Amino acid sequence: MAASGIEKSTLEGAVKKKAGGKIHLDNFEGFLKRISKANPAGQYDRAEIDAIPCYVGWIFSRILANGDISPCCRGVNMPMGNILEQSFRSIWESVKYRDFRCRAKYLKKSAPFFTMIGCYEFCDNLMHNRQVHKRISGLKTGQRRHLEKLSR
Ligand code: SF4
Repeated sequence: MAASGIEKSTLEGAVKKKAGGKIHLDNFEGFLKRISKANPAGQYDRAEIDAIPCYVGWIFSRILANGDISPCCRGVNMPMGNILEQSFRSIWESVKYRDFRCRAKYLKKSAPFFTMIGCYEFCDNLMHNRQVHKRISGLKTGQRRHLEKLSR
């Protein structure tokens, strides 16, 4: 039973039926968490967010209509630069972006740096972080070290 009081399979089945069974529901569990009443503070993924590193700085970038580059779905108040003023490459390789990557990977999201992002409310990149973490965890030590060196 989903925390919202609706059976997960019932809800999932209803959504798929409405779409003629032609859709794949990605992260449906995450959706159910967000509509549940189990956590009124809305910090549904807090424990998991701090349990794995955030790799978003290497795998995602959001370009807003005004040209701002947001480092993650929720990072709109922390632009890394603006493509109307600089090339994407110079922003991607900037000290500011490198600093973000490092903090996102190593700091707990309770750190003041992340207040503007509000990671604990909703991390829309959590499923991507899970996937990357799983893949990295499966690497051999030497491969992990090599990757670590490349990512600096
Ligand atoms: S919301 Fe926080 S944890 Fe999620 S991708 Fe952004 S910086 Fe990383």
